[in-house]
Amino acid sequence: MSQARIGRAVVTGGAGFIGSHLCERLLDGGAEVVCVDNFATGSAENVRHLAGRSGFSALEADVTLGLRVPGRVDTVFHLASAASPRDYLRLPVETLEAGSRGTRNALDAAAEHGARTVLASTSEVYGDPLHHPQHESYWGNVNPVGPRSVYDEAKRYAEALTMAYHRAYGADVGIARIFNSYGPGMRPGDGRAIPTFIRQALAGEPITVSGDGMQTRSICYVDDTVRGLIALAGADITGPVNIGSPYELSIRRLAELVRGVCRSESPVVQVGRPADDPRFRRPDTTLAAQALGWRPRVPMEEGLRLTVEWFAAAAQRREEEGRA
Ligand code: NAD
Ligand code: UDP
Repeated sequence: MSQARIGRAVVTGGAGFIGSHLCERLLDGGAEVVCVDNFATGSAENVRHLAGRSGFSALEADVTLGLRVPGRVDTVFHLASAASPRDYLRLPVETLEAGSRGTRNALDAAAEHGARTVLASTSEVYGDPLHHPQHESYWGNVNPVGPRSVYDEAKRYAEALTMAYHRAYGADVGIARIFNSYGPGMRPGDGRAIPTFIRQALAGEPITVSGDGMQTRSICYVDDTVRGLIALAGADITGPVNIGSPYELSIRRLAELVRGVCRSESPVVQVGRPADDPRFRRPDTTLAAQALGWRPRVPMEEGLRLTVEWFAAAAQRREEEGRA
């Protein structure tokens, strides 16, 4: 997929996990990139390696307070939002604000520049799904007053607002429903299953599987996720379109796989299951394949190996820095 149409891109949440990979991939493809982040859950460290690259600039700003970017803008990728359950439960109001005011500011900035907006939505809009796998036509099963609602409803509102701008003002928009993405650059303490299991397995600590571990997720390597977002930016469709992998597995199996890749002896232990934790998750990716020509490429075993290698190297760096 050509990146020519993407031109000069703004990436809100660009210093986060997916955002930092997206910034890098866009630069690799010849785009100019303005990373906008308030470091609520991301870090300047994630984009430090991009600082010297031609075409890259960074603004420290909270998108809920406005989004003003000097110069031309062709594409706005709106990723700014807490994403891990631990983060959004800690930042409930900020998460609702990022999805509501933040999305409005992203759409207004795009309108001002005549740019296309790509919204990073989520499989969480399907809630605890009653249909499996999840097709984009499924409306979801979300508890609007449960603890996860701060994230799920923020994203549902963000989708509704994006469609309203499209219908009422003719805004050029694309909505990506991202399913569990993983890879290098995740925070070891962000509370999500993959970074937690890897950190625990590498440290020889018990691996904490919630409930009986039979709930499923479909995990997608971040390079594939980012390729899907870029394909959507360069396409003419509005979506929503699922960006996720068919590698559905139980959380217990995921814990065992991670333990194997880490060559760890850590026991797998059972801990309490969070409220409203979805039981199943697998995307129907027919639309992504047909409309974007997008399919995930990185096999799960390879993705997990690359991620574990990165976590092991990062842990070693931290240890050496601690000794210095
Ligand atoms: P992340 O927490 O690593 O990144 C989010 C970034 O947004 C952080 O750098 C954070 O500092 C920034 N941010 C938050 N609020 C902000 C604000 N008000 N102003 C400016 N910046 C702000 O999360 P991630 O996993 O990289 O997720 C990125 C996006 O993708 C999110 O919108 C998330 O909802 C979506 N998504 C991610 C996944 C996944 O599996 N990682 C799945 C579905 C959807
Ligand atoms: N999970 C777990 N142990 C952990 C963290 C998460 O068993 O230490 C479970 C969690 O309850 C959920 C699944 O793993 O069933 C995926 O959780 P994650 O936070 O990674 O993603 P999300 O719930 O947002 O899909």
